[in-house]
Amino acid sequence: MLTDLPVPALRLDLDGDALAANWRMLDRWSGAARAGAAVKADAYGVGAHRVVPLLREAGCRDFFVAHWLEAAALVDLLDPRELAVLHGPLSDADCRFARESGVRPVINSLEQARRWLAQGGGWCDLMVDTGMNRLGVAMTDLADETLRGLQVDVLHSHLVASEDEAGPNEQQRRRWREACAIVPHQRAALANSGGIALGPDFHGDLTRPGLALYGGHPNAAFDGKIRQVVVPRAAVLQVRRIAAGETVGYNATFTAPRAMRVGTIAIGYADGYLRCWSSRGVFRNSEKPLPVLGRVSMDMVVIDLDAAPDLAEGDWVSADYALPEAAQTSGLSQYELLTGLGRRFQR
Ligand SMILES: *Cc1c(COP(=O)(O)O)cnc(C)c1O
Repeated sequence: MLTDLPVPALRLDLDGDALAANWRMLDRWSGAARAGAAVKADAYGVGAHRVVPLLREAGCRDFFVAHWLEAAALVDLLDPRELAVLHGPLSDADCRFARESGVRPVINSLEQARRWLAQGGGWCDLMVDTGMNRLGVAMTDLADETLRGLQVDVLHSHLVASEDEAGPNEQQRRRWREACAIVPHQRAALANSGGIALGPDFHGDLTRPGLALYGGHPNAAFDGKIRQVVVPRAAVLQVRRIAAGETVGYNATFTAPRAMRVGTIAIGYADGYLRCWSSRGVFRNSEKPLPVLGRVSMDMVVIDLDAAPDLAEGDWVSADYALPEAAQTSGLSQYELLTGLGRRFQR
């Protein structure tokens, strides 16, 4: 048995205090409603195994994943009744898992409602479509007999463009209220992160922030309220000196204008550091900016070490990854920046 594992060359530093502070801020901002947490996609790439216990400690008691296998991976970390699966039951096996574990399915269609009831039913959530046309029971199906058999805890709908004041928020809110008047339920939920900023009319009993928990700013209303949660950090694999006129990386897109000291670091496409960061990304070592030179070259990136003459092989650098700014620089969405973080990071 091997006892000494090799040392990782890539880390995702998680600021647990910032995560908890973001949840508490969103919970307060949700007013009379409680804030839950969307922890699908491995808590947006941050690492659900770390995020769920930290959020529970902060007081969160409602968690949402997309897939059933995500739920199965989390049931030991919480009371399964705190967890709901947004995709809903696609098979009888999903229903059996839900009934045995206590995890709630979010019913999205009459078909899913029938399947759930045929397997014995019990507490579930219901998603009503108010304009997204992605998942959810249509407004026109709300009077259907089938739904009356359901024992609905949370009646959900989901906003199309909550971050955009000019979006169809008000129309969706009215439809959601209408749905609430038709289908008996315990709690009502509409707002994702952006929806929380739309005010009390959008809060219902429970909000479902995801992005903002992890440091995302859906719009300027979040500036100054939400803290950065994760920082990708990579080890320097090699330091080299290059002469003026030499090129760096695949396709030679950077040519050194002068003699330079450069460092090759262990981060690349598989880690979510995509080609859009080529010649744009910045890493730092004690605040000093170390810009990316040329292309991201598969598993590696070369950075300019001029600002950090003492930096050596084995040292660590941090990516500039504050989400609103990183989205601007890279052209990726804040969601892509988080969920794309690969499996090689030590989390
Ligand atoms: C992912 C998701 C959320 C969280 O959305 P954010 O924009 O990340 O806050 C909320 N509700 C539903 C139904 C979701 O699928």
